[in-house]
Amino acid sequence: MDINEQQKGGQPAQTQSNQPGIESIMKPRPLQPIDYIGSGKLKNRVAIITGGDSGIGRAVAIAYAKEGAHIVINYLEEHEDANETKKLVEQEKVKCLLVVGDISKEETSKKIVDQTMQEFGSIDIIVNNAAVQYLVKNFTDITSEQWHKTFATNIDPAFYLSKYAMPHLKEGSSIITTTSVTAYKGNEQLIDYSATKGAIVGFTRALAQNVAGKGIRVNMVAPGPIWTPLIPSTFDAQQVAVFGVDTPMKRPGQPRELVGAYVLLASDEGTYMTGQCIHVNGGAIMNS
Ligand code: NAD
Ligand code: MG
Repeated sequence: MDINEQQKGGQPAQTQSNQPGIESIMKPRPLQPIDYIGSGKLKNRVAIITGGDSGIGRAVAIAYAKEGAHIVINYLEEHEDANETKKLVEQEKVKCLLVVGDISKEETSKKIVDQTMQEFGSIDIIVNNAAVQYLVKNFTDITSEQWHKTFATNIDPAFYLSKYAMPHLKEGSSIITTTSVTAYKGNEQLIDYSATKGAIVGFTRALAQNVAGKGIRVNMVAPGPIWTPLIPSTFDAQQVAVFGVDTPMKRPGQPRELVGAYVLLASDEGTYMTGQCIHVNGGAIMNS
């Protein structure tokens, strides 16, 4: 499928009733890096990816596996998507460990680190990627409960997972966070979400400075509108139909199109990069 043509001008109106969404029922299916050709850039490294079952996280899991890394995936409850990703990873002759659990809880980060050490004995790459978002039109309708849940899911785990993993990270290790175009541009219906993504930017830059002396790099990727389960599970059908068409490229991006950035930041091709953000957004913003 030609990425440029697949969703030029939009996609079928559709919604899913629950968040997290499910990748296997999306129409069309997001394009994943099945055709990606690895060259051993991450051979025998161990990568933890939160929200690695679907969307961008699945794309990163597949590409890292094709580069030779063993993969640990945390996800909330989407067992079918997670098992499909595991299958795709294992096809690359590397191991895949699934760790189910609510990442908004501190103990889940500890569990992920403990199980990874038990299974693999090392950790080289952490991709903090899980998130939720709740659209609210009127600012005053955002409940305190929602505000705290969005922060607990989107930013707290970057702190907890990095903290529990830090004693195991060595020179050359890499932490990558997923922020968003909304951190730079704002989104009038995603105020709490945008705030968490801004928090990720500050966290990433500050931690990068703190651990640079240990040879550990901390960077982020800021996706624009990307065709993933997050979209039909959080926007209404009309918004889904035109999602991404307001970018200069007039289409949403595909998970496949994010993996170059995540591989660069994890690999020895990115060893002089820290505290940086790679924007992958079809030109949605050009001045960050
Ligand atoms: P996705 O739904 O495929 O991935 C999000 C994942 O987060 C889910 O798979 C789910 O398992 C996980 N998750 C949510 N709540 C959780 C919890 N409590 N515990 C454990 N896991 C939980 O969607 P995606 O678009 O691939 O999202 C990946 C990242 O990309 C997110 O950080 C998102 O904010 C970011 N992002 C996405 C877009 C976009 O347009 N899709 C744009 C900018 C940023
Ligand atoms: Mg999912």
